[in-house]
Amino acid sequence: MKKIIHLTVFLAIVSALAGGILGYVNALTSPIIEEQKIAAVKSSLQAIFKGSDEFKEIVVPENGFISLNVPLDSNRIGSLSTKTTHPVYMALLQEIWDALGIKAKLILPYKYKTKGEVLKECRDRKLLEELVFATNSCGKFRRHGYRHCGVCVPCLVRRAAFLEAGLQDYTEKGYRYDDLSRSNSRDLAAVALAVKQVELLGINRFVKGELSFAEPNDRNQYLGVVARGISELEKLLKGYDIV
Ligand SMILES: [Zn+2]
Repeated sequence: MKKIIHLTVFLAIVSALAGGILGYVNALTSPIIEEQKIAAVKSSLQAIFKGSDEFKEIVVPENGFISLNVPLDSNRIGSLSTKTTHPVYMALLQEIWDALGIKAKLILPYKYKTKGEVLKECRDRKLLEELVFATNSCGKFRRHGYRHCGVCVPCLVRRAAFLEAGLQDYTEKGYRYDDLSRSNSRDLAAVALAVKQVELLGINRFVKGELSFAEPNDRNQYLGVVARGISELEKLLKGYDIV
């Protein structure tokens, strides 16, 4: 019995010592490992922007309404309202590049514009009409055999934008679900709910704290783009007697 107690105590001491040593080694090596990781990323990015003494402009041509992607209802947070070109994300990415000495500047020329406004203000309408119907907006493009579904949020924003810009919609292969009045799409229901929320409660209560990241002047611009984006969607839905 005494032997077992001695052995247990001995093993506990060895274990504590080993844990302590591991912790010490980790404390010594983890900053070095982190530094090596940062150096590797920096080296890769510098290789991409190699030979550049001047800042290169990286244009991100996303419209403000989709960039902000304010949740259409309280259930649509997270992956249903992604923020891949959100102003906060873009600003943080720029900060990382600046800290790494990467001479590239992110430019978002349409951050205060809706998709309809981007189309309306295009300087070369002829070229736009030649190219725009071959573009892809759909979030379920592959699922429908490389065809627009017509009823996901980006498809609805696309359709609303063509309507706003007065463009007859000749999207290649058309929409899988063309007639919105016969659709039971959840995204379509969420858009209809958002339109009604803005109508009944006003735009400020619809966006809630989503624009709290912005300075007052920027906030007003972003608020305007959300209001006009919802208005474009409303016109589309009204055409199908949905709202
Ligand atoms: Zn779609």
